[in-house]
Amino acid sequence: MKSVDTRLAEKLRVRLDAGTLPTTRPRFIWAWPGAGETCSACDQPIAAGQGMYEVDWNEKAYGFHPACYGLWRDELIRRGWYKSS
Ligand SMILES: [Zn+2]
Repeated sequence: MKSVDTRLAEKLRVRLDAGTLPTTRPRFIWAWPGAGETCSACDQPIAAGQGMYEVDWNEKAYGFHPACYGLWRDELIRRGWYKSS
């Protein structure tokens, strides 16, 4: 699984660099059950029965698998970006 995680972390970094993922701490974070949404980090569907985190940032909603959410948040913290906008 390590290579998958490495690829995902790289994808996250590219998206953060491009600004296509939230780059500051979002004002609202919700936890929902998944309903087939596409994960904003790994592009895989978030199946019903899986947990999902939804982040609202700049008028847009981003859905994440719990593990992907953790990776995204950790990367923000690592960059010192995890603060309120
Ligand atoms: Zn994901």
